[in-house]
Amino acid sequence: LSSQVGRSVTLEASVAQIKQTSGPTIFTLVDESGSGNAAAFIEAGVRAYPEIELGSTVMVSGEVMRRQNQLQIEVSSMEALTGEDAQRVHDRIETALDARAEPADIPLLIESDVLDRLRPAMRKVAKMIRRAVFEAQPIILRHHADADGISAAVAVEQAVISLMRQEGDDLDTAYYLFKRSPSKAPFYEIEDITRDLDFALKDHERFGQKMPLIVLMDNGSTEEDLPSMKMAQIYSLPMIVVDHHHPDAIVDDYVIAHVNPYHVGGDFGVTAGMLGTEVARLINPEVSDAIRHLPAVAGVGDRSEAPERQRYLDLIAEDYSEQECKDIALALDYEQFWLRFNDGRELIKDILNLKGNRDLHKNLIGLLVESANAAIEEQMAASMPHVVEERLPNGAYLFRIDVEIFAHRFTFPPPGKTSGEIHDRLCRQHPGEPVVTLGFGPDFAVLRSRGVLMNIPRMVRELHDEITGGGISGGGHLVVGSIKFVEGMREASLNGLIEKIGQAPVE
Ligand code: MN
Repeated sequence: LSSQVGRSVTLEASVAQIKQTSGPTIFTLVDESGSGNAAAFIEAGVRAYPEIELGSTVMVSGEVMRRQNQLQIEVSSMEALTGEDAQRVHDRIETALDARAEPADIPLLIESDVLDRLRPAMRKVAKMIRRAVFEAQPIILRHHADADGISAAVAVEQAVISLMRQEGDDLDTAYYLFKRSPSKAPFYEIEDITRDLDFALKDHERFGQKMPLIVLMDNGSTEEDLPSMKMAQIYSLPMIVVDHHHPDAIVDDYVIAHVNPYHVGGDFGVTAGMLGTEVARLINPEVSDAIRHLPAVAGVGDRSEAPERQRYLDLIAEDYSEQECKDIALALDYEQFWLRFNDGRELIKDILNLKGNRDLHKNLIGLLVESANAAIEEQMAASMPHVVEERLPNGAYLFRIDVEIFAHRFTFPPPGKTSGEIHDRLCRQHPGEPVVTLGFGPDFAVLRSRGVLMNIPRMVRELHDEITGGGISGGGHLVVGSIKFVEGMREASLNGLIEKIGQAPVE
């Protein structure tokens, strides 16, 4: 359209959105070359061409104008195509969009067998996301609210927003078509899908938007996601998963694509941030340089022990040391704690140094790391004296801490991170020994371990069946996770859990 300003054009397209404003009706049109808006006016606030619906194939004529820096067609006539005409235009657009959505053939940032084997799955996901952008389909990106999940999601956010901008969308449009939302739990909670559906249905009704594509990153691959996935399925919402949690095969009945290192013989060491960055580069290679440090931040944030971690660190060694990556990861965790359910888009970009203001980035990281460490020290000074030590039958050390009464609540660090910090200190005090740390509250426990070959999701499933009336649920990674139970069954639940830990083989 940009080369046709001031001229009359006629084009065939499909209708991707119909929005009634207080003035004209705005139709978002998609054809093989891209998307754009067409404004049709009958009377202020009155729906023009009511016979044309979302998904219709149309023939439109009008003049190309520039309004507030946005190109649009001022419609003089619009007609819904039917029968063979509609089919012909539909097929032509379909073929062209499919070809355009095909990701670029670019090499990975690092050498990696696991990532190489995941390449077809990553290309599939990138293609679906590119296609959603070209078709003006809204995208909701849900991610775990930790450094790894944030890195994964922000990489894709950068790729998608800049692709939308290349397509001619203004920032407002880009931000209402793409939403990034952190989830506190490492799975898609009912609360999250309920909120997402609520907004999607309202936007569909009020702004004539398509129903969204849901992308789950650093969550989405376990049985715990099923209740939400079933809800999404009722409304036929397409879902994509990019995750490194140990997957349950059943989720693949509900999703249209799933990238997971466990599918190709890898493990959680290839973290969501690594996967997300490589997928983002396939979505839009132009952002590749800007996001190349995100996998290293994700790798240290999630304590990856895979060879990929060092390779991503080596890739950016000239710009960021390992300590700087750890600082960025800690700053992300700390800031996300205070952001709660907000995405903190611009703040997070500054923390990840995506806005080119290196001085501000350094000052911000400096302050956040200092504040986070002070809060952690404070917490440890209160908690560490209350840790109870015991030796399990398999020779592992078990350390227990009641984080409900021996830690500050509702502040940073939260119980999971508090237990992790305690665990790190105890591991350093017992080098080379198997160590399990159990931080518990009235109705939950957080598990951290080293050198003990546990399978937490399986232990949780067994306890659920063995302890009648325990109300036990939970999960996580194989050796790092959490468990919930009813308060009145805490003793029985913790004892059952500890018995299983004591039977697990040690390294
Ligand atoms: Mn992760």
